[in-house]
Amino acid sequence: MKLSYFNIENFKVDGGAMFGVVPKVLWSKVYPSDENNLIPLALKSLVIETEGHVVLVDLGIGDKLDEKFMSHVYAFGGMGLIGGLKKQGYAPEDITDVIITHLHYDHCGGGTFRDKSGVLKLTFPNARYHISRKQWENALTPNEREADSFLPENYLPIEQYGALNLVEKEGELLPGINLRFFNGHTPGQIIPIISYKGKKLVFVADLFPFKVHIPLSWIMSYDMEPLKTLKEKEKFLAEAIKNDYVFIYQHDYFSDCSRLQQTPKGIRATDSFTFDELMMQIG
Ligand SMILES: [Zn+2]
Repeated sequence: MKLSYFNIENFKVDGGAMFGVVPKVLWSKVYPSDENNLIPLALKSLVIETEGHVVLVDLGIGDKLDEKFMSHVYAFGGMGLIGGLKKQGYAPEDITDVIITHLHYDHCGGGTFRDKSGVLKLTFPNARYHISRKQWENALTPNEREADSFLPENYLPIEQYGALNLVEKEGELLPGINLRFFNGHTPGQIIPIISYKGKKLVFVADLFPFKVHIPLSWIMSYDMEPLKTLKEKEKFLAEAIKNDYVFIYQHDYFSDCSRLQQTPKGIRATDSFTFDELMMQIG
């Protein structure tokens, strides 16, 4: 198995929205905001090469959204999806599988694009796109609070081109890639757990967007069912500490990875290291 990790792009959202009921005097000490209260988020993706498959996890915002939408997300920096993959040695045609953790625009948008005549096409023509059935059905009939995050042009083409695989159950997708479902952020969010050289690496997506989201009550305002998120976090953190999981963050602008430790205040991420350092540690 070979792993790569790269940052597609960064964007900004309201700091308060990322921390829910946690007051700014607390969160701003650990995650700084600008004069407009905006904070930077990364959009990092993982590539897993295993047994003849090249699997890409999450796809960033993409480039087909209109100026008005993009003016609200303040995108900056990053390598881009195709550029980042190229730097890791992959062309779009090489990707055999795409895992989309969930269908919010910042996780799936890069999976489709408009060609010169405006026709929606798949960015990865040879890939099967894996999405949980629960999330797919939720995106087709979203509630009003979540609807702004679901843009049909991001995911309907996947079905139209026959590339959609609806994941029904938790479990092994491919050797070494285990999928788990979580429902507090949005129904049927997939969290992949990768077995790599005897270690378990978890791509924690929107279950733990930043390293500082480990404390139980630090939950985004974006979550549909925050109390469900709280229970899911509590249970998963206990599992993570028991099995020495390494968390790999998708949205954390300041941190790639961390391990967890039991502290007098509860389970916390006590260290922080880059993905390259993680690969060197594992050897
Ligand atoms: Zn999300």
